[in-house]
Amino acid sequence: MKQVILLGAPGSGKGTQAKLMVSELNFNHLSTGDLLRAEVAKKSDLGNRISDLINSGALVDDDTVLELLRVNIDLANGQYIFDGFPRNIEQAKALDKEVLGSAESKALYFDLDLSIIKERIINRRSCRDCGNIYNLLISAPGKDGVCDSCGGEVYQRRDDNAEVVENRLNVFKSTIDPVLEYYRGKGILTSLDASLSPDDVSTQIHDILG
Ligand SMILES: [Zn+2]
Repeated sequence: MKQVILLGAPGSGKGTQAKLMVSELNFNHLSTGDLLRAEVAKKSDLGNRISDLINSGALVDDDTVLELLRVNIDLANGQYIFDGFPRNIEQAKALDKEVLGSAESKALYFDLDLSIIKERIINRRSCRDCGNIYNLLISAPGKDGVCDSCGGEVYQRRDDNAEVVENRLNVFKSTIDPVLEYYRGKGILTSLDASLSPDDVSTQIHDILG
């Protein structure tokens, strides 16, 4: 079993590749946002605590996220994609200590020039119904505003505008370097050329994990 940590700026193509890894390589995709919502819906003790945190306006702290990961994964019997966690060096160390332990793991960094990322995000649209992702420059839907796969509404997320994106990318840059350094030091980091087409990036991932 191989556990994979995906690292890359928003807009680097991580989400697209995570989907392919699920369908082609039999991975389970761990998105902390989805896990949080599912746990709250379960009304478990943990879910109720999370719900209290969210209702009080607090951020969900790292310890809670780590607990959430622990109760939702079975490393001995499944391969998981960690996506969106860790975001900083403290979280990377805690993930090792609290969750991954001695499990075989790899970190994949979606390396891409930040100016390209900015252009990608600003042109990103997604389907409200099935979540399909489009890019107006390279993969626009056939009919303007309509999803090719399900006919749903294709829209732009409100935070995908130039100013918000610029901010997000600056924060990303300052926190990702120590994380990359950490995984490089452990000898488990591979950088992907994320400027290539989704097919070519997927081929790189198959080679690395195959
Ligand atoms: Zn759709």
